[in-house]
Amino acid sequence: MKATQKALNETALAMHQVHHAFDQHTVVKGVDLTVAPGEVVCLLGPSGCGKTTLLRIAAGLETLQEGSVSLQDEQIAAPGLRHIPPEKRNVGLAFQDSALFPHLSVLENVTFGLKHLSTSNRRARAEELLSQLGMAAYASSYPHMLSGGQQQRVALARALAPEPQLMLLDEPFSSLDARLRDRIRDDTLHVLKKVGAATLLVTHDPEEAMFMADRIALMRDGCIVQTGTPRELYCSPKDPFVVTFFGEVNEMDGVVEEGHVATPVGFVPAEGIADGTRVQVMIRPEALRVIERDLPVGAHAHSHIVMAKLLGRSSLLHLCAHADDGLEAHLHARVPGVFLPAEGQPIDIHLDLSQVFVFPAAETAQVS
Ligand code: ATP
Repeated sequence: MKATQKALNETALAMHQVHHAFDQHTVVKGVDLTVAPGEVVCLLGPSGCGKTTLLRIAAGLETLQEGSVSLQDEQIAAPGLRHIPPEKRNVGLAFQDSALFPHLSVLENVTFGLKHLSTSNRRARAEELLSQLGMAAYASSYPHMLSGGQQQRVALARALAPEPQLMLLDEPFSSLDARLRDRIRDDTLHVLKKVGAATLLVTHDPEEAMFMADRIALMRDGCIVQTGTPRELYCSPKDPFVVTFFGEVNEMDGVVEEGHVATPVGFVPAEGIADGTRVQVMIRPEALRVIERDLPVGAHAHSHIVMAKLLGRSSLLHLCAHADDGLEAHLHARVPGVFLPAEGQPIDIHLDLSQVFVFPAAETAQVS
């Protein structure tokens, strides 16, 4: 095989059937995960689902109990057989609480892992990374003189400096305030892509994962529920957990009749689900498109406004929808920009079906 072809086929990280338990309590349950060279994969999931444990196993900070871990197609961990220690794995680590060397300056912290380079090359590389992460002015400062967010950026630069085959980042932006976080995420992604570093990044923030990831692996209770591009997870979620993880949804029950479910805001197709099945219908707030018509209060319309709130870039409408059977349903709609109709204002709604999902109800029951 030609060298270039081999490089294309390599997997930067491959974890196969990894299980892990702490004191009889299994927290990682048969995980398969790969990261391709140059790819950024985000491990996303609620607190306690096992993300950090998985990352620590990849780093070698936890001993593998079951399964296998390979780096660049070389097995680096097999239970009871092989455990290459963290410092020999050619992996860059930046964790939430990554400690910098307190007695070294920022520049010395970043050049620490570059002993194989000449002094001038070391310095140039560290200065370039510090500048890309907005920390050039602090090169001669010491860690105690920096804020938590600044320390995190230095830790990132230090991890990136030796150009590791794999970067393992655990909530690397958690101590940054919201405005700075956006910029540093952007800068970090730019650096990761420029360096071509394969990256596994842990976060519990869906927006962060969507921004950073080529692929997201969404975890729940020790298992990966769905892996795919941000678009695949957002637009083709596999189950209700995946839908709700990406934000608020309007949920309602229904029954499939002639391939559709009747809801107070219109008919929703239920592809591949048999007639008579009880289903859960999930409608994202942005799926409710408000049709602006100058209707007088009391006019016949599908809905009326209960409350409207300006959130900044969008407005949140609390609607009461009137179903044909006389029932009412309360829903949230999110519309771009400033749109603040008065309470009681009648309003018509169009449903964007691409943001509506139908799943068989948890205890699937046939209705006769
Ligand atoms: P978070 O987002 O809150 O950091 P996480 O998804 O990264 O959560 P882990 O830190 O991997 O989750 O923890 C998974 C489970 O394992 C939790 O129930 C946690 O309490 C438990 N756990 C983690 N480390 C240990 C340990 N060293 N000893 C015992 N239990 C542990």
